Amino acid sequence: MILSVLFGVLTWPVLEYALHRFLGHVWRRDTLFRREHLRHHREKDYFATAGYKIAAAVPAVLVFWGIGTLATASARFGAAYAAGATSMVAFYEWFHWRCHARAPLTALGLRLRKHHFHHHFRNAKSNFGVTGTWMDRLLGTYAPTSVVGIPRDFRCEWLFDANGTTIAEAYAGHFALAGTERNGVSSGRDRDPGP
Ligand SMILES: [Zn+2]
Ligand SMILES: [Zn+2]
Repeated sequence: MILSVLFGVLTWPVLEYALHRFLGHVWRRDTLFRREHLRHHREKDYFATAGYKIAAAVPAVLVFWGIGTLATASARFGAAYAAGATSMVAFYEWFHWRCHARAPLTALGLRLRKHHFHHHFRNAKSNFGVTGTWMDRLLGTYAPTSVVGIPRDFRCEWLFDANGTTIAEAYAGHFALAGTERNGVSSGRDRDPGP
């Protein structure tokens, strides 16, 4: 039973990467997912509504349950698998929102924000993982980040000082306003979020 939950938990980073990379960027088919994702890139702090997320979560739970049940020939193990995977979906949603809206609490939280903002503002062909970097490392889309360039119109309170005009001192070694970075680091100029 615990193994089923664990498999569900491990399924998510693979799906997170695949959905983001292919459905969000590489495949140009016009889907609601792609539209919502490109809007997140364009508006920088836009997140799909709770209604959209719940509407997407219901079929996802059923699919997880169906796959888990088929793989284990047990509806109970299937439910455990679905519980593991769905918990990670919820964690992802919370964590992605936190990356944008709240300051990091740990060094890992800061590293993942840099990883994600590099994807946003430097190169949308890299760093597709949000809750982790290992899928990017595994599939060759990992881009290391030193100082990540941030566009001035990125409404991200925790990243800026009280005036909202410069990067907060605590993060000065990790982020810089676009065009003010040291040589060889990420530019914060807005890039085409397409592949
Ligand atoms: Zn984001
Ligand atoms: Zn993206």
